[in-house]
Amino acid sequence: MRAAMAAAEVGDEQYLEDPSVNELQRRMAELLGHEAALFFPTATMANQAALRAQTKPGSLLLAEEHTHVLIYEWGGPAIHSGLVMKGVASAAGRVRPEHIEAEEELGPGSIVVLENTHRSSGGRIWPVDEFRATLDAARERGAALHLDGARLFNASVGAGLPPSAWAAQADSVTICFSKGLGCPLGAVLAGSGSLIERAWESKYLFGGAMRQAGVIAAAALYALDHNVERLADDHARARRLADALGAEAETNFVTIPESPGDLERLRDQGVLLGDLRPGYL
Ligand SMILES: *Cc1c(COP(=O)(O)O)cnc(C)c1O
Repeated sequence: MRAAMAAAEVGDEQYLEDPSVNELQRRMAELLGHEAALFFPTATMANQAALRAQTKPGSLLLAEEHTHVLIYEWGGPAIHSGLVMKGVASAAGRVRPEHIEAEEELGPGSIVVLENTHRSSGGRIWPVDEFRATLDAARERGAALHLDGARLFNASVGAGLPPSAWAAQADSVTICFSKGLGCPLGAVLAGSGSLIERAWESKYLFGGAMRQAGVIAAAALYALDHNVERLADDHARARRLADALGAEAETNFVTIPESPGDLERLRDQGVLLGDLRPGYL
C-alpha cells in the first residue's frame, strides 16, 4: 500500500484533475450501484455531507440509538445541518418500519440513517429484506435514507452478497477505507449525480476539498484490489476468538459483556479492549 501511494499519479483534486481520485470515484460509484461518488478525507465528513445535501434544518434525523452518526460525530447533524437527532432502541442496530410509522415529524427534509454492519451491536449485518422494508417505510414518508456503510464490505463478505445489494437501494452511502480495509484515511460518498454535486458544497464548507489527494486514493484503490477479500480472514479470527470465549461474533467484532475492572485487569496482561456500547467490550 505504501509503495502504491508513493507511485500514485496525482493532480489537483479540486479541478477534478487527480486521475487516482477520479478512478476511485468511478470504481466506487459502479461497485455501489450509484451514478456518482465523491472522495472525502474521513467517513465522518462524508456522513455529514450526505446529511447536509438531503435535509432541511429543523427536520428529523432518525437512527438506532447507538448509531455512529448519533454518538461519535459530536452533534454534527445538529451543528452542520440543523437536524433534530432522535435515536430509537432496537435489537441489532436495526430501525424497523414500525419505528418510522410511529414518528409524526418524519417527512420530506428528514432522513433515516442505517448502519451496515452496525458497529455498536457488534458488527451485525442487515438482512437485505429487512433493510428494504425499513427503506420503503422511510420513502413512504418522503424521508431520505442514508446508509453509513463504513463497514459495508464486511457485510458484503460476511453475507456473500455484493455491496450494491444494500447500497444501490439507499439514497446515499458512505464507505470508510480506514477501518478493516487498512488505509491511513479516506472515505467515499456515493449517490445520484445531483446529490454528489450538492455534496461538493459541504466538501468545501468542511475543509475537505484537497489537492494531490491521489496519494490517499491510491491507498484506497490498493485496498479494493487486495484487502476486501482479506476481510474473510478477520471474520475467521473473530469467530475463533468468540468460540473460545463463548461470545458473539458475526463479522469482525467479538462482543464481550463487561464486568467491573475487566479493562484494567486485561490491560495489565497486555490485552487491549475497546468499548462497544454500555456494558459491552
Ligand atoms: C469509523 C466510522 C465512521 C467514521 O469514519 P472516519 O473515517 O474515522 O471518520 C463512520 N461510521 C462508522 C459506522 C464508523 O465505524
